[in-house]
Amino acid sequence: MQVEKLWDELRKVLDENQILRNEPMKRHTTFQAGGPADWYLLPRAGQLAPLLALLRETNTEITVIGNGSNLLVGDGGIRGAVIEIGKSMQEVSVSGRAIRAQAGAILGSVVSKACQNGLTGMEFAAGIPGSVGGAMVMNAGAYGGEMKDVVAKVKVLTPRGDILELGADEMEFGYRRSIVAEKGYVVLEAEFVLTPGEKEEIKSKMEELRKQRISKQPIEYPSAGSTFKRPEGYFAGKLIMDCGLSGFSVGGAQVSEKHCGFVINRGGTAADVLSVISHVQQKVKERFGVELETEVKLVGEFL
Ligand SMILES: Cc1cc2nc3c(=O)[nH]c(=O)nc-3n(C[C@H](O)[C@H](O)[C@H](O)COP(=O)(O)OP(=O)(O)OC[C@H]3O[C@@H](n4cnc5c(N)ncnc54)[C@H](O)[C@@H]3O)c2cc1C
Repeated sequence: MQVEKLWDELRKVLDENQILRNEPMKRHTTFQAGGPADWYLLPRAGQLAPLLALLRETNTEITVIGNGSNLLVGDGGIRGAVIEIGKSMQEVSVSGRAIRAQAGAILGSVVSKACQNGLTGMEFAAGIPGSVGGAMVMNAGAYGGEMKDVVAKVKVLTPRGDILELGADEMEFGYRRSIVAEKGYVVLEAEFVLTPGEKEEIKSKMEELRKQRISKQPIEYPSAGSTFKRPEGYFAGKLIMDCGLSGFSVGGAQVSEKHCGFVINRGGTAADVLSVISHVQQKVKERFGVELETEVKLVGEFL
């Protein structure tokens, strides 16, 4: 569809300041890499269903993102529309032991709210820089905890435009996966149920985990966290280190010397990052016969 025509259609659902054209994805990903999205849209919760219907009717490709902390977007960018479920959907409320959070809320803010209300069980997620929506897709986890341990219900929008409330058992949570991506759902909200605890203890647990993260992970550089999934029976970082690839770089992308499981971006392109990833995969396969699968999701056009 012509640009002007699609603009007019989008304006029926969104305000002008919710529609960005040719928006560089490096502004919206923690890797700080990636070319332009044709359309970058920032709907509020109530606008999502009509927006998705409109994009389908106009045959516009749709990519949903949260905080962009698990994405490598190609330098060619993303055709069609990127929908950010982020800043305009961040409400978090507490009722007894239950916390309801809109999909755009950052996990850290949910954990802070839990702490303020003396609720424990979610401290593991404080330092994961993703949104609630992204965390439901990835079953995000750290330090022995994962979303499946604390989620009670998830509200999603189906590709047909219906709203469903799924129980945790219907989410098919697994290692860095859930049913969401497979079904093409858009996460709207999640409810967490936690346990009453001591505020001071919750705070000190969060602080302890924060210190561990700072000491072990290269969070001072742009990245998308662990680049690779943990292969069964191994640790990706150790395999990479044992291949002598600590510090290996292409252009501005590098295997972190602090933690070899992280590829970091020191001012390079998505192509640089992808070259490092491919080289690491090839070397680990040659030396140990292990296929490293990316945890990071590759999106858009790679030049
Ligand atoms: C420094 C750093 C540390 C990290 N540490 C951890 C860690 O300890 N544990 C861990 O698990 N991860 C970690 N990550 C990775 C990342 O934060 C998680 O995978 C997080 O869950 C991704 O959330 P997001 O909102 O950024 O999702 P995005 O990266 O924006 O998207 C991820 C996927 O979810 C989909 N998606 C996002 N929102 C929605 C929605 N509302 N509805 C439907 N689909 C959606 C996207 O299409 C995409 O497929 C780390 C990342 C960084 C940069």
